[in-house]
Amino acid sequence: MHLKPVIAANWKLNHGPTDAKAFLQRFLAQVPKLNDRTVIFFPSAITLTTVTEGLRDRPEIWVGVQNVHAEAQGAFTGENSVLMARDAGARVVLVGHSERRHVFGESDETTTKKMALIAQARLTAMLCVGETLAEREAGHTADVVERQLAAGLKELDDQQIGAIMLAYEPVWAIGTGRTATPEDAAEIHGVLRRALASRVGDKVATGIPILYGGSVNRGNASQLLAASDVDGLLVGGASLDADGWAGIVRA
Ligand code: PEP
Repeated sequence: MHLKPVIAANWKLNHGPTDAKAFLQRFLAQVPKLNDRTVIFFPSAITLTTVTEGLRDRPEIWVGVQNVHAEAQGAFTGENSVLMARDAGARVVLVGHSERRHVFGESDETTTKKMALIAQARLTAMLCVGETLAEREAGHTADVVERQLAAGLKELDDQQIGAIMLAYEPVWAIGTGRTATPEDAAEIHGVLRRALASRVGDKVATGIPILYGGSVNRGNASQLLAASDVDGLLVGGASLDADGWAGIVRA
C-alpha cells in the first residue's frame, strides 16, 4: 500500500434521510477526525443532501453518488445529473457498478460517456470493473477488467485519468458472502495497475487508488487492505450498520 487508503460505503437502495441522520450521529461519535484515510459515503440521491449536511463539520469525509445519467441535462425523467450532484455537494461518482451493468444493462459505451461527463464536471469518477463467475471460470478475468477499464478511459486525457479512482469488484463476490482472497485481489489489481501504466505511465498509474469490493466485512478488511496494490475498500452490506462501518473505517 503506497497511497492513503480510501474506504467507501455504497449504501445502494438503503437509508433514507431519517435513517441517515441517525447513522451519522452514531458513526461520527465513534470516528474522530480522519487524516490518514479518505472515507467516502455513497448514499442514494434522495439522501445525498442529508449526508452532506450531516458531514458539514467533517470536510475530510467525502460524499458521492451511486450513478449519474450519461447526459448532463434534458428530457430524462427519473435520472440524476452530474451537475446537480456536484451542486448538492457530491465530490465523487460511482460508474459501472456491477448492479448498473448487470441489473440495468449499462454498457461499456455508456460508461465511456459517463466518465467523460464526470471529468468535464471536475468530479472524481470511481470506475468499477469486475468479472462474472462464468468469466472467471473460463479464465477471462484479466481480459474483462482490461476491456472495462479501456472503455472507461477511452475519452479521457492523461490528466483526467490521473484524477480517477478504480474499484475491482468481482461480480461473484458482491453481496454473496464470497470474498476474493487477498492473493486474488492483488493479482487483478496488478493487472489493472499495469494497464493504467501502459496508458499513462508509471508515475500517474501509481497515484490512482484501486479499491477492492465484494463482501468486505470487519473480519476480512485488514487482510484485504494489506494486499499488494489494494489501496482501499468499497463496501456494500457491511457499511449499512453504523457500528460495523466505524469498525471497518478504523481497520
Ligand atoms: C458493492 O455494492 O459495491 C459491494 C461491494 O457490496 P457488498 O460489500 O455487499 O458485497
